Amino acid sequence: MHHFAYRDGALFAEDVDLTALADAVGTPAYVYSEATLRRHFRVFADAFAGADALVAYSVKANSNIAVLKTLAGEGAGADVVSGGELQRAIAAGIAPEKIVFSGVGKTGDEIAAGLDARILQFNVESAAELAAIDEIARARNAQAPIALRINPDVAAGGHEKISTGKKEDKFGVPWAEARDLYAKARAMKGVAVKGVDLHIGSQIDDLAPFEAAFTKIGGLIADLRADGCAIETLDLGGGLGIPYGEGAVPPHPDDYAEMIKRVTAPLNVKLIFEPGRMIAGNAGILLSRVLYVKDGEAKKFLIIDAGMNDLVRPAMYDAFHEIWPVVESSGGETVYDVVGPVCESSDRFAKDRKMAPLKAGDLVAIMSAGAYGAVQASQYNTRALVPEVLVNGDQYAIIRRRPTYEDITALEATPDWLP
Ligand SMILES: *Cc1c(COP(=O)(O)O)cnc(C)c1O
Repeated sequence: MHHFAYRDGALFAEDVDLTALADAVGTPAYVYSEATLRRHFRVFADAFAGADALVAYSVKANSNIAVLKTLAGEGAGADVVSGGELQRAIAAGIAPEKIVFSGVGKTGDEIAAGLDARILQFNVESAAELAAIDEIARARNAQAPIALRINPDVAAGGHEKISTGKKEDKFGVPWAEARDLYAKARAMKGVAVKGVDLHIGSQIDDLAPFEAAFTKIGGLIADLRADGCAIETLDLGGGLGIPYGEGAVPPHPDDYAEMIKRVTAPLNVKLIFEPGRMIAGNAGILLSRVLYVKDGEAKKFLIIDAGMNDLVRPAMYDAFHEIWPVVESSGGETVYDVVGPVCESSDRFAKDRKMAPLKAGDLVAIMSAGAYGAVQASQYNTRALVPEVLVNGDQYAIIRRRPTYEDITALEATPDWLP
């Protein structure tokens, strides 16, 4: 459920008319609904009410500081995958004891920053990283709280580019090496073993792979405890899918929670979750204007002012996004390829999409663009990063402005030998 809906044929974000908003801030623009962000967070957190659980929002899904502040206000922690994200989370007021640091390639500086901030836990992805953390922590006279990210070797479906829990994937410690590495970790003076972590992928629309992975991890926790290893936390990662308007309908957080409570009840651990898409995905749209309608030889193209540099999901993951007209019309249906202005054939948001007929100047909303949208944008073709707007009731604020040409080129320098 989200707060983008028609009123008398005009699409609103909460109480803000998107036509008026487009005129005020220009297009393309990302528009987020604060009420939707809060609602999704609460639905997830409430599903685990009564359990010892921390919901650490996955910052990489949408890292705008205003979004993080909104979620911090709801009690969210943060799952970060870089030093930059760590800084954002702290700047947004998220308490370090609610921050977990994930990622396969943490640098020495990033590890040191996490130690200095006294975060809750490092999710460690390899033996080599564990050794690095131990060494850096000892050099600072500190002890790093760690969980090992275990690769449970289950296939989670979804697109291969967002699957992370099979043994062919680069993520996590191989299942067969887990017990051994825990034994090594326990002997290290610079680390304090806290828990076990896993994350099997993203946009998973079926409970079965989650249950298979979590059950397998439960067995590992029993083995580790038998080995004398105290396991206090179990981080179950993110990955719960959202409806994109095509394909399967993902499980409701209540059903997800019911399964998890059942599987983890005997374990007596503090649960950590890292949802990203589930919180932010349907809380945002990409607002764009039709530039041209082109009657090609074989098909009709709707050329819009947003491009793959602004929202790369269709090009990168073959992702489906609904595209809604901002003003409803009753003029029947036309079939379009909806494309952007970037000089790449993959710059296409929809293929053979049935839509109400549109003309140059009309506005469209690319739905479900709140997660993995703005954060993956680039300035390819020297197209300015799209501004981000946060709506709250009948108010809105620009939470990242559109850069100027001077902003875009400010980091470039001409060497002395060029005129
Ligand atoms: C990307 C990621 C998440 C968030 O995944 P969603 O599908 O957005 O919920 C959580 N944990 C880790 C380690 C990740 O890499």
